[in-house]
Amino acid sequence: MFPGCTEIAINSHLLQKRGILDNLAVDGHLFIVDTMSPFNMELEKLPLEFRRVGLKEVLALPLFCNKHDTELFTDIEVGTVDHFDYRTQILFTYRSLAGELRKKEISADLLGAMMNDSEVRILMPGHLIYKTEVKLQGFLLGISDINWYLHEIEEYLSSPGVKNFTFITREMKQLDVCASAGFTPMDFQQILDPIQELPLSSLSVNIVPRKKLCYLIVGTHNHMITPWISGFMGGCDAADDAEMENIISNILLKRCETWAMSPRLYDKLRREDRERILEELHMDVMSHDQNLFTSFNIFK
Ligand SMILES: [Zn+2]
Repeated sequence: MFPGCTEIAINSHLLQKRGILDNLAVDGHLFIVDTMSPFNMELEKLPLEFRRVGLKEVLALPLFCNKHDTELFTDIEVGTVDHFDYRTQILFTYRSLAGELRKKEISADLLGAMMNDSEVRILMPGHLIYKTEVKLQGFLLGISDINWYLHEIEEYLSSPGVKNFTFITREMKQLDVCASAGFTPMDFQQILDPIQELPLSSLSVNIVPRKKLCYLIVGTHNHMITPWISGFMGGCDAADDAEMENIISNILLKRCETWAMSPRLYDKLRREDRERILEELHMDVMSHDQNLFTSFNIFK
């Protein structure tokens, strides 16, 4: 994925195993929410389920080759990490956006293959073909948007100078969750720019658990700051610890897919809390509306 590199990508962890994910693990495992396997699906049940997965599998995607994965991220993987430092924030953002890119590429490949398979097409009703094509276009636009952000970051990494991104980092008590993702809070009231010279405004989010503390790093490109985004970032900056629990709950339930939870938190949740989490996730799974909100605090 690194520009010019042709080596095969290894399975990179969006957040490293040692030093981050292992702070949440119990017996080497964490919990994620995943699509239910077809064998467990029942009509009246939600198609999502909690799954206990080994650290090797958690938040892992083929992103960079071994050499680049090691070289690029040494500064946030070895030694003491300053989470308030611009380069640290950039590197976390780089890997989370690379993860978003890869997920979209995988989905686009799948849909593209479906659309190009005449035998599959013949079996699909017209409205489903239309829906699939719209979805595919959405993924392709998303891919070109993320590439724009990645390119901006790569320019900084190759010659650090102008700081084109704005970040905030929040230090919090340990919350028993982690995340690494990007999201696009869309304002449907605004008339979309028909020429679309710039990508959509997106944010990157990293929730990084360390020994006793946890860091939230949120960032975006300076040209992409909307009133909603500056309000959101300001809110993260000003919130006290109790309010942070609500903000993090909203990020996990309404904004990002790539997150995981410690078995400690999973065990603390009551059965109805777990079901509520799955319902909240399912409700808005395809929505990018900036006004999504849940009052549900998963830490209470
Ligand atoms: Zn490489």
